Amino acid sequence: MAKVQKLFDFIDASPTAFHAVESVRKELEKKAFSEFSEGDTWRLSKARKGYVVRNSSSLIAFAIPEKKIKGFRIYSAHTDSPVFRVKENPELTFGEYIRINVEKYGGMIVSSWFDRPLSLAGRVLFEKGGKIEEKLVNIDRNLFVIPNVAIHMNSDINNGYKYQVQKDVPPLFAKGKKGVFGKLISEETGLKADEILASDLFVYPRQKGFTFGAKDEFAASPRLDDLACVYAGLKGFLDSKDSEYVRVLALFDNEEVGSGTKQGAGSTFLEDVLFRICESLSYSRTEYLKLLHESFALSADNAHGVHPAMSEKADPVNRPELNGGVVLKFNGNQKYATDAVSAAFVRKIAKDEGLKLQDYANNSDIPGGSTLGNISTGHVSIRTADIGLAQLAMHSSCETMGSKDYEDLIKLACAYFGK
Ligand code: ZN
Repeated sequence: MAKVQKLFDFIDASPTAFHAVESVRKELEKKAFSEFSEGDTWRLSKARKGYVVRNSSSLIAFAIPEKKIKGFRIYSAHTDSPVFRVKENPELTFGEYIRINVEKYGGMIVSSWFDRPLSLAGRVLFEKGGKIEEKLVNIDRNLFVIPNVAIHMNSDINNGYKYQVQKDVPPLFAKGKKGVFGKLISEETGLKADEILASDLFVYPRQKGFTFGAKDEFAASPRLDDLACVYAGLKGFLDSKDSEYVRVLALFDNEEVGSGTKQGAGSTFLEDVLFRICESLSYSRTEYLKLLHESFALSADNAHGVHPAMSEKADPVNRPELNGGVVLKFNGNQKYATDAVSAAFVRKIAKDEGLKLQDYANNSDIPGGSTLGNISTGHVSIRTADIGLAQLAMHSSCETMGSKDYEDLIKLACAYFGK
């Protein structure tokens, strides 16, 4: 329990992608990584451990070797999870009830958000001395509940119910007259209402991570997809030692909505950072491309474990179990970037480390999801394998995984980077 508690603490401190980046930033700063801005000229001859943040929600950290550089070793994961986003003009009133006007961000299991404590987190943009500044906000108390309708009034609910987000989901927030929400944000941020210009705010589940099972073999928490892979990658990255490769930890926002934003895996963020590292070391474009040829990327995002209640949805044999080891993901249509070349590379590392791996493929009649790997290779074309941790209840407000698998992922990531 003690070990997995650190993962739970990380997730608990990271209710949104902005906070996840902040959590990672704190760990990097402790290890003397310096921040580089995309708006500056970089001089990497002295500071060889750095990180770059884009949109406060994506982060790329890098460690440049002392020796001659052979290539890049990249590990990517995503900072966002399915969540309800607060719309502009957020108060909906019915009599004296005030509910919060929300819309979906990503594809969540809507029913899992009902009848549980929720709160609010995100960022607020405000004016100070003629400048626009940004502040994170995370309200650390129970603020909302989305109450179910009694079964007496919705007697068919157990036969399947089609949720209408606009009608059913707005969380119950207050009783009174309009203006309570704005006042709360002012109080929480210490800003006057007329100083606040804009915000990106999200409703998140207050549930803290916990272990369960006869031997505490399971771990449940919100946002395991994909903060468990973010955390394992960060630990492996920080535990690793100087090698012949530039070690790169690339954490992207917006995977849950297709990665097509300026800070998503479909953007030029990774390509820009890799190129600027080379440029600041006075490498030519040809030398940069030669390095890419020798590079590798691990794209880490959670995988579906076989569910005991619906095993027919899984492939008959490529069906990962919880606590069965890190999962290597394959897909015929290349939604996962793994191929024989990249699978062989990962399997060799696992073999050398004595780590078990499991294979995942979709049931051939069921389309699966996609992830970062094949989107990222559109910009930085290098050998890539998709990996992840087996989990149940993906995109529920509280997901379940094995309490041990993430430790294997830390070891695998560390060995991959160099130890
Ligand atoms: Zn994911």
